[in-house]
Amino acid sequence: MTTTPNEGRKIQSIRDLDLAGRRLFLRVDFNVPLENGEVTDATRIKEAMPTIEHALNQGAFVVLASHLGRPKGKKKQEYSMEPVAARVAEMFDCEVLLADDCVGDAARKVIADLREGQIAMLENLRFHPGEESDDESFAREMAKPVDLYVNDAFGAAHRAHASVHALPLLMKEKAMGLLMERELTALAKLRDQPEPPYVAALGGAKVSDKISVIEKLLESVHTLLIGGAMANTFLAAKGISVGKSRVENDKLALARSLLERADLRNVQVFLPEDVVVADHIDAAAGQVVKSSEIPDQAMALDIGPETVKTFREKILRANTVFWNGPMGLCEKPAFAKGTIGIGEALRDCRGYSVVGGGDSVAAINAAGLEEAFDHVSTGGGASLEFIEGRQLPGIQALASIK
Ligand code: ADP
Ligand code: MG
Repeated sequence: MTTTPNEGRKIQSIRDLDLAGRRLFLRVDFNVPLENGEVTDATRIKEAMPTIEHALNQGAFVVLASHLGRPKGKKKQEYSMEPVAARVAEMFDCEVLLADDCVGDAARKVIADLREGQIAMLENLRFHPGEESDDESFAREMAKPVDLYVNDAFGAAHRAHASVHALPLLMKEKAMGLLMERELTALAKLRDQPEPPYVAALGGAKVSDKISVIEKLLESVHTLLIGGAMANTFLAAKGISVGKSRVENDKLALARSLLERADLRNVQVFLPEDVVVADHIDAAAGQVVKSSEIPDQAMALDIGPETVKTFREKILRANTVFWNGPMGLCEKPAFAKGTIGIGEALRDCRGYSVVGGGDSVAAINAAGLEEAFDHVSTGGGASLEFIEGRQLPGIQALASIK
């Protein structure tokens, strides 16, 4: 048994289950990008490999189940798991049998006929409206042909969907997969026992996406570094003119209140002292200006070099660092330096470093920095909700007793 970081209730690990000869429903997050019927980025499949390999080595009959895209409860060929099954077959060098439905006769037959050396994959869970509505009778159908349940889809753990919530509630023997276990351990350390000094670097598009995480972090961090488009709203809230930069004008009062609360808690907040500006997001290059001198026609699209230096110094002195959200319009090389600079600072920091967030993780992968941190969370929304201290339905369901 492994003690869950969630409320101290016990959640079993797949390592605790007796898998030999048994049919295992393995919920994975194979919501991978596709182009022309091919998987263009197999990161999510790779991340589930240790769990799948463990189950196969222990003699389980593995039934993989995932959602893919947003087919909205209808069978749509463009969201078929077929290309994913093909990729899994290649990666494991074994036969992958795709059931053309995740419930009913089609699924039952494929699962019953599974032989050693084969893997079963169910068709897209979201082809049924019951998945997103957390429908119990749909979950019962999924439970019928299998003996055990394991959830390794951390990225879907914050959703009360049938395959991650209603289904495990019905199952007697259930556990988290190795990826899920790694996520929970790393994020719980950050949430519950961050070794001081604790520095958080936040960026990304909007303050409104991150309000609750900022509020929660104000309880534990010593230093908050704010960059990205989010910083514009904070600068504007302090009365600094940010030209044509992306700003949430309806969040200025909130930004001011967050700054006041930080002050009351003695949390040091650093906003960009300089920024990279351009007149257009397609500009080939930007120009560095002080954040107090952003021209009326310009947009702040990245943090400037002085800011990177300041943020870096703070990060290097931290014993715990959490980073979420790119520091600028990092999809464009002209405005990616701030994001890369912060990534390098986390890499060079001796403290415990964790990165979360969809676009942030894409940016560090693009910069080849993915090996540089103690933990890179695979769950965007799920990791933020976990850090906020919310109960995630997919994790609660694993801790329940049937
Ligand atoms: P994550 O997915 O890591 O949580 P977000 O979704 O909050 O991050 O934000 C990522 C997006 O924010 C990226 O597309 C990035 O280009 C954009 N962004 C960051 N800084 C700026 C900026 N200064 N101006 C415009 N867009 C920005
Ligand atoms: Mg995002």
